Amino acid sequence: MNWMVRWAGDFPVFVNEASGAHFTDVDGHSYVDFCLGDTGAMTGHSPKVAVDAIGERARRGITLMLPTEDSAWVGEELTRRFGVPYWQFTLTATDANRFVIRLARHITDRPKILVYNGCYHGTVDETIASLSGGSVVARDGNVGPPVDPSETTRVVEFNDVPALEEALSHGDVACVLAEPAMTNIGIILPDDGYHAALREATTRAGALLVIDETHTLCAGPGGYTKAYGLRPDIVTVGKAIGSGVPAGAYGVSEEVAGRIGSSTYLDNADVGGVGGTLAGNALSLAATRATLESVLTAEAFERMIALGERFEAGVIEVINRQEAPWHAIRLGCRVEYRFQPEAPRNGTEANVSEAQTDLDALMHLYALNRDILLTPFHNMALMCPETSEEDVDRHTRVFAEAVEELFI
Ligand code: PMP
Repeated sequence: MNWMVRWAGDFPVFVNEASGAHFTDVDGHSYVDFCLGDTGAMTGHSPKVAVDAIGERARRGITLMLPTEDSAWVGEELTRRFGVPYWQFTLTATDANRFVIRLARHITDRPKILVYNGCYHGTVDETIASLSGGSVVARDGNVGPPVDPSETTRVVEFNDVPALEEALSHGDVACVLAEPAMTNIGIILPDDGYHAALREATTRAGALLVIDETHTLCAGPGGYTKAYGLRPDIVTVGKAIGSGVPAGAYGVSEEVAGRIGSSTYLDNADVGGVGGTLAGNALSLAATRATLESVLTAEAFERMIALGERFEAGVIEVINRQEAPWHAIRLGCRVEYRFQPEAPRNGTEANVSEAQTDLDALMHLYALNRDILLTPFHNMALMCPETSEEDVDRHTRVFAEAVEELFI
């Protein structure tokens, strides 16, 4: 699997067993897991209530091409959390993004989408693009793009309102697909007022605003959208919502639902490029219901975010003590440290030098050899409901040791 080559070192650790915030490898070493499957296990590994619900559902039918009552419960809960009232299910966040892009093009009759430089939204053709000298090009590493991405995509820097307005002024953008804070090039927080400007500019241009909450769910039970009062037309989500069982979802506003409904022909809706045989299956929905009802609850987020604050404070204390030219950054229960003095404001500023990439790999291995797993990208640490203060403090001690050795 392509992510697995991104681990520092010659081979990934092979896992034997995982539970809560910890796992054991095949050699019997146990680790604190701050990677948590790059968000897929933000619930902690195998939370009991979800495992029970999954086992129970698996005995009573896994996939039927018919809805179960869990789908109605989950739809209502997602509405309560994210605001938009109509939901459909997918197996992954990638699929959720692919389907909303299709639907956005369909109902607006416009060809393009707009994304940020440095974004990642899954294996979605239109999004694997970047900016080079002001032009849209295939992102480095894009495997077999079906067409030149400049035909399908406009790319602007995050936090750049004039560039956004210019890109929207051509009248050909069906939707802006945005993480509300960027996470896949390291965390980049929006400037004050950026989201108000984004909402205003998309409305004025007749482009739909799609907020991808797959990672930014770390900001709270209703993601960044709820925590900061955003008003998107469409929300996409995935990864953690099924405690690791494949599950994704997209929710749309009343207005968008009306436009989709009035332009969808039920006779051929199943072959139009939206959906999937296993989408909305009974098992995914049972797992999602248990996760939302009992695992990723408001109380759990309160604890997780407090642990994120503790992690951040520990790192900042070490950085300040050593006067290292680095910084820490946090969004809810997701924390990172970067080997740059200032937090970047966009994808170009976040594009790190080779020395920083080496430091990333070094820190990753240093921690791994001391039984702590960070994600292999930009030293991301995520707190789950079962992460403890001791887990966090263990990382702080190891980070302090590493920094002392580096600065000797
Ligand atoms: N959206 C965002 C913001 C993501 O970070 C990712 C994956 N890292 C995806 C969508 C796609 O998720 P998946 O690979 O589970 O489909």
